[in-house]
Amino acid sequence: MKNIVLLPGDGLGPEVMAQAARVIGWFNDNFDANIQTTEGDIGGGSYDKHGTPLSDDTLEKCRKADAVLLGAVGGPKWDKVDYALRPEAGLLKLRKELDLFANLRPAKVFDALIDASTLKPEVVKGLDILIVRELTGGVYFGEPRGIEKLPNGERRGVNTQVYTTHEIVRVARVAFELAKLRGNKVCSCEKANVMESGKLWREEVTALHAAEYKDVALSHMYADNCAMQLLRNPAQFDVIVTDNLFGDILSDEASMLTGSLGMLPSASLGAEKNGKRAAVYEPIHGSAPDIAGKNIANPLATILSAAMMFRYSFNLSKEADLLEAAVESVLAKNLRTADIMPTKDKGGCKQLSTSDMGAAVIAELESLKAAKAA
Ligand code: NAD
Repeated sequence: MKNIVLLPGDGLGPEVMAQAARVIGWFNDNFDANIQTTEGDIGGGSYDKHGTPLSDDTLEKCRKADAVLLGAVGGPKWDKVDYALRPEAGLLKLRKELDLFANLRPAKVFDALIDASTLKPEVVKGLDILIVRELTGGVYFGEPRGIEKLPNGERRGVNTQVYTTHEIVRVARVAFELAKLRGNKVCSCEKANVMESGKLWREEVTALHAAEYKDVALSHMYADNCAMQLLRNPAQFDVIVTDNLFGDILSDEASMLTGSLGMLPSASLGAEKNGKRAAVYEPIHGSAPDIAGKNIANPLATILSAAMMFRYSFNLSKEADLLEAAVESVLAKNLRTADIMPTKDKGGCKQLSTSDMGAAVIAELESLKAAKAA
């Protein structure tokens, strides 16, 4: 039995989560996935109910679970709440408490959505990149930090980029392991030319590769060059591993190559302890207050986050493949939510509601299963 916690959160969170929960239920009924779900509160809803965006009770449930699937948090209702109690603080606390140091952001271009990219179709066709971003170290957490007043009356802002060996090695290990499940290539990005922390990063990744992962192709790239290469020739990449700051920027850039926020899943993983790895899976989009409650949001990013959970937390690769194939096939049949409808000419596409998109994925799962059995 696998135990997962569903944290629907705020805004469109509950709507998209309902569709992911349906899909998980389908795998329980049809594939003995054996996934038991419980729900918890997070974000603004939790603040309203419990006075905190992440209660000890929810945190404890998440600690004990095999994985967490999250919708989204936040919204204008909580704009005036103290920073420490804002919805987003709940999510940051969850990541910190579970020590989720590796953030996985796939950027995949579905053939049927190729025109949604701002790049030329021939540049993004077949694109399938996984960015592994270090999430708990680097300049966002380094000390000293702050803004200080200088004797001459000027002010000075300070942040510190700092990495230790084990922080680099553990995230690089995740990248090498994941590459083995994909295209077997890792590109490590830093600024070793101008930063000591980058030099250390390059040395440690090189040493780990030589010691344990010679069978994976490793290359190194300066982060600024990587930003250019992602636009020039993104298909050259399989797995990119990089630090917190560069990863923040490069993963947003890579995700926009696909052109559709409602399609992009993510995972944040912790260290493996006693055969178990803490993991939170979530769409990369926010709570979309502008469309929440209207049953028009795209649930596919959350459904694809569930596919990542099948693959990375439960080793259910066949099930993950089937779910991704079902999503691909729904798109190939020109079924779309509003956000991914073609803007100029509808091109034979049919617009579906959030719940109808969930139903379309289930229908596709049924027919792929029947086709396999035949
Ligand atoms: P957003 O991602 O919520 O929305 C940006 C735009 O994309 C909006 O026009 C929205 O309608 C659209 N969009 C997003 N997801 C969609 C989906 N599944 N289907 C269709 N359209 C979708 O970003 P924002 O507007 O900057 O932030 C809104 C709130 O979400 C803020 O409170 C912010 O702090 C929070 N936020 C939360 C997370 C998270 O929970 N991980 C991430 C980003 C932002």
